[in-house]
Amino acid sequence: TTDEAVFVGVRLRPFLGYETRQQCLTASGKIISVVGEYPDKKKRDFAFDCAMDSTDASKPDYVSQEKCYEMIGRRMLQHSISGYHTCLFCYGQTGSGKTFSFMGKKSETEQGLLPRLLRDLFGQVESVRSLGGHVQCRAQMLEVYNEKVRDLLEEKEKPKAPEIHVHPKVGVYVDGATDIQIETLDHLQKLLEAGLSRASVAATMRNAQSSRGHTIFRLLMENHEEDHTVVSSEVFCVDLAGRENEKTTKVTGENFVELTFINKSLMWLAQCIQGLGRQARQRSNSEELDGPSRARFRNSKLTLLLSNALTGNSKTCLLGTLSPAAINLDESYVTLNFASTVKSIKVTAKRVAKVDK
Ligand code: ADP
Repeated sequence: TTDEAVFVGVRLRPFLGYETRQQCLTASGKIISVVGEYPDKKKRDFAFDCAMDSTDASKPDYVSQEKCYEMIGRRMLQHSISGYHTCLFCYGQTGSGKTFSFMGKKSETEQGLLPRLLRDLFGQVESVRSLGGHVQCRAQMLEVYNEKVRDLLEEKEKPKAPEIHVHPKVGVYVDGATDIQIETLDHLQKLLEAGLSRASVAATMRNAQSSRGHTIFRLLMENHEEDHTVVSSEVFCVDLAGRENEKTTKVTGENFVELTFINKSLMWLAQCIQGLGRQARQRSNSEELDGPSRARFRNSKLTLLLSNALTGNSKTCLLGTLSPAAINLDESYVTLNFASTVKSIKVTAKRVAKVDK
């Protein structure tokens, strides 16, 4: 439907070697169910737009990388071709399959969402070009860590960190961030790989396992029409740093600061996504989106960076990744609750409107 603010999919990965094979989650159709006895947990079923079972490749309803792309990635492609800004978020506990779903492996069958999306987007760009059209593609890759922005496309870290600015007409832009013009798919893929390896080197240098930032890949496509107008659309793909439970995780000092930043920015993000549902209503009531709508985004670097994609005509998609194992149930609940918050958006927006009257 046209007013659908956000599409939420969740995916169960297979058991890993070290996990005891006690399964606590199942996925079927649109539902994730908690199976087994866990006295203090109440909610047993969670409904999303799709619930993907990738626990066992020998099962008939196993969701392969290709199927996952069909269910999640292809929607992004179509929206983006139709001129919407699009935004894909991946979210889940460390080790739950975010990187696998997002990037995947080198082999063609195991490629993840992002390389497949880029391949198809670029195919589209090339076919427009072959018909004589002028499409420019530019890529950026940034990391937000402890409320600092870092350029992942820069060989060496620059003395001055990139800064986020808001321009009244252009919207948000990042000053001092590398913005690379892309000519071929191969070029794009190389940039992506280089950027990701810089992100993981940085994470390793920060040491502690949970030391992670949000990784943001942005592709800007500008279609130069014959009448000199420019139609542009942005694709954002965001690998969100995992939220961890401040009560159950024993963290101190620097890591605690880091976690607090992560948790806060995720909370602000959920609120901004909630705002999307409200905007869809405001638009239909032909109300202006003004200052206060943008102000919500200023709470964190992550939401400010994404605000172009989270305002106006944008389509957003969240993929939550989960381990099926009982030992990870607590962390899985965190992911399921975050995804449910995001999913409940339309409903919330309607309820608020009713109360207003
Ligand atoms: P994260 O990025 O969330 O920390 P990873 O993507 O690295 O987690 O996944 C952890 C491990 O599980 C990796 O070895 C990965 O190959 C494997 N894995 C995750 N999801 C799947 C899946 N859907 N199918 C097969 N293997 C998977």
